[in-house]
Amino acid sequence: MEIIDQRYVIQGVDLVSLAREHGTPVFVYDASKIEDQIKKMRAAFEGQSMRIKYAAKALTNVSILKLMRAMGVGLDVVSKQELQLALEAGYKPSEIQFTPNCVEFEEIKWAADQNVQITIDNLPMLEKFGQTYGSNKPCCIRFNPHIMAGGHLKISTGHIDSKFGISVLQLPEILELVNQYQLNINGLHIHTGSDILDTEVFLKGAGILLGVAENFPNLDYIDFGSGFKVAYQEGDPATDIVDLGQQLKVVFSKFCKQYGRDLELWFEPGKFLVSEAGTLLVNANVIKTTPATVFVGVDSGMNHLLRPMMYDAHHEMTNISNLNGNTRVYAVVGYICETDTLGWNVTLNQVSEGDIIAIKNAGAYGFSMASNYNSRPRPAEVMILNGQAHLIRRRETLVDLLATQIPIDL
Ligand SMILES: *Cc1c(COP(=O)(O)O)cnc(C)c1O
Repeated sequence: MEIIDQRYVIQGVDLVSLAREHGTPVFVYDASKIEDQIKKMRAAFEGQSMRIKYAAKALTNVSILKLMRAMGVGLDVVSKQELQLALEAGYKPSEIQFTPNCVEFEEIKWAADQNVQITIDNLPMLEKFGQTYGSNKPCCIRFNPHIMAGGHLKISTGHIDSKFGISVLQLPEILELVNQYQLNINGLHIHTGSDILDTEVFLKGAGILLGVAENFPNLDYIDFGSGFKVAYQEGDPATDIVDLGQQLKVVFSKFCKQYGRDLELWFEPGKFLVSEAGTLLVNANVIKTTPATVFVGVDSGMNHLLRPMMYDAHHEMTNISNLNGNTRVYAVVGYICETDTLGWNVTLNQVSEGDIIAIKNAGAYGFSMASNYNSRPRPAEVMILNGQAHLIRRRETLVDLLATQIPIDL
């Protein structure tokens, strides 16, 4: 988002006009930002056979998946339905990996039968996989390295109490199953959670994974998951991808030499690719002054952007309707009958009813976590590609809300 001729634009597209045309709330995605992030990752790992497997759950719109595919990016999916959307977007099974947790074996089997790369994260499913496929289908093992990544327990998945992955302490049990069923383990995986603050944590996890790798002679790749942190506000620490690339390349090359073969290095970024590309445009419904606070009530809330309430996430905001007014401090809240604060102490140019507020960094886990709470339709989504705005999902209507209901005769 930038200012040109006193208007906020993305790739030259005027955002206030876009909000008027498509209505609010509306998610707007800047495709060029996604492309930039992909290029940044590739540059950081230049010279390494690095593969990006976009974590589709961050933003699952089929047009986004198509964009990823056009950019040569593979996919990481966590459910049968995400896998079906990926196929719908034109992905080939060989470009997709399935990294579910706590799903029933039937779902894993369905994906395996499509010839998608399977990642297994618990011992009972590893055993079932062995009983069903033996050495006939490769699979990858997700380890839990027991390191604490990020500050927030809800998004850290590598700690000792986390439900994700098979504990590195259970390596003997894994090897027993591998031996018993002659399993073909072609990949190893860790994903320690979102919001890793520094390269150190990454390397620690990497070290633990590479440490167990010698037990698996058939590896094609090592998947280091994600956890790339993006800056949600000015001065936020973000993962230094260049630094990570430099340091991990050294560690990984050394490992490959010891292992005796060059392996692929995989990552599964979600947030890193799509967070900054997304902006949620909302309408200021009411300015409500209380003895303590000035609230801006907007036509959205935790039903469309859950992150502030779920993770205490901070999202920068801008009043894009008023470029020159005085600033003041507001509490921006949603229209949901629930405490659904989108931001406290938000400094905005003076807000009037009907102004459009842009909520930034809304690309990842925005729409994909949206619900119909309060029977509100989910927003429209627009992608700006090559300077053109494309509606990639229409706003829901009452018909959508009723579509699955079977009214009883009374
Ligand atoms: C959610 C998830 C990711 C993506 O995490 P981000 O923080 O969005 O980059 C990657 N891998 C797995 C297995 C995940 O569950």
